[in-house]
Amino acid sequence: MVEVLIIGGGPAGLTAGIYCRMRKLSVLVVDAGRVGGQLLSVYADKPVHDWPGQAQVVANELADQLVAHARESGVEFAENEKVADLRRPGAGFEVVTHDALTREERVHPAASVIIAIGAGAFEPRRLRVKGEDGLSEDFLTYRMPEPARVAGRRVVVVGGGDSGLESAQAAHRAGASVTIVHTHAGFKGMEANLDVLDQMNIPRLLGTKVTELVVEDGALKAVMVETRGEPGTRRLDCDYLVVNIGAAVNLQAVQGWGVEVEGGHIQVDGGMQTSVPGIFACGDIVTYEGKHKLLITASSEGAVAANSAYGFVRKPARVTMKDLYR
Ligand SMILES: Cc1cc2nc3c(=O)[nH]c(=O)nc-3n(C[C@H](O)[C@H](O)[C@H](O)COP(=O)(O)OP(=O)(O)OC[C@H]3O[C@@H](n4cnc5c(N)ncnc54)[C@H](O)[C@@H]3O)c2cc1C
Repeated sequence: MVEVLIIGGGPAGLTAGIYCRMRKLSVLVVDAGRVGGQLLSVYADKPVHDWPGQAQVVANELADQLVAHARESGVEFAENEKVADLRRPGAGFEVVTHDALTREERVHPAASVIIAIGAGAFEPRRLRVKGEDGLSEDFLTYRMPEPARVAGRRVVVVGGGDSGLESAQAAHRAGASVTIVHTHAGFKGMEANLDVLDQMNIPRLLGTKVTELVVEDGALKAVMVETRGEPGTRRLDCDYLVVNIGAAVNLQAVQGWGVEVEGGHIQVDGGMQTSVPGIFACGDIVTYEGKHKLLITASSEGAVAANSAYGFVRKPARVTMKDLYR
């Protein structure tokens, strides 16, 4: 039995793992895919500008650094194992996983659990319009576009959050002709991203939704859009579509474990404690007043969750940070 089992090896789970090892707790990080989280699975080639100590670092390099740090600290990994169930047999927990390839079931006993599943096992939200089903990755992505795929092409990016704005910038830099389509009247991204968008002079259609994809012989030819307050639909010719409208996390399983959720997120207190004693949570999946979905907050919450798990498992008279500074 491990003292702490962490579900999800993104920045939150990896930092929690590192902190568990600072406390000499035995720890296993289980991930449905490769550890690294969204840094690898969603925007591997994007530069990150807000990781302290590095003015600029490419996302996949930052992921490699976090994974290497965790590995060197003695964190154990179980990759390609999706957590399907969490049982409470009496004392402690049993985390049930399915191997991604063989579907083989494994059971990992643990004294405590940290849920750090971020945006889930990346199940992107789809447009749900005609033409979307079956369109190949030569014409459609739900991640950040790869430069080689979009160079010289006409690209429509759907989404007005930071993901959409950064995808539009990446496609523009790769030499694509880009248009952004967003359902709301204004973008939701950070000022820095909006400034870059303005500098690049990327055309945008606000208050606009995609109603249909025009596909001929398996190839994307155009998207049909409808703008609020304007009659009828309009055709935007394009040969590549980027859809960045969020990820749909299915929290039904988590609710089944007895953990309280609110609006698609797990509720935690200041110690990252969930409604179930011994189960903690951190990163994009949690909510509390003032929560921001950032790498730095995910990591910070991971450190807090690890220290709380230490208090739960080892039951010291007091959890003090002083013993960490030796
Ligand atoms: C396009 C884009 C650009 C961004 N750029 C920045 C930026 O520049 N700066 C910044 O601060 N933030 C940025 N962010 C936000 C940042 O990536 C997230 O806040 C951060 O990744 C959250 O970390 P996490 O560990 O909570 O979750 P994630 O990174 O989502 O990791 C969760 C992990 O859990 C695993 N998992 C999920 N479900 C299961 C399961 N059932 N069983 C096992 N494993 C599971 C997943 O496979 C994944 O590896 C960006 C986000 C996007 C989408």
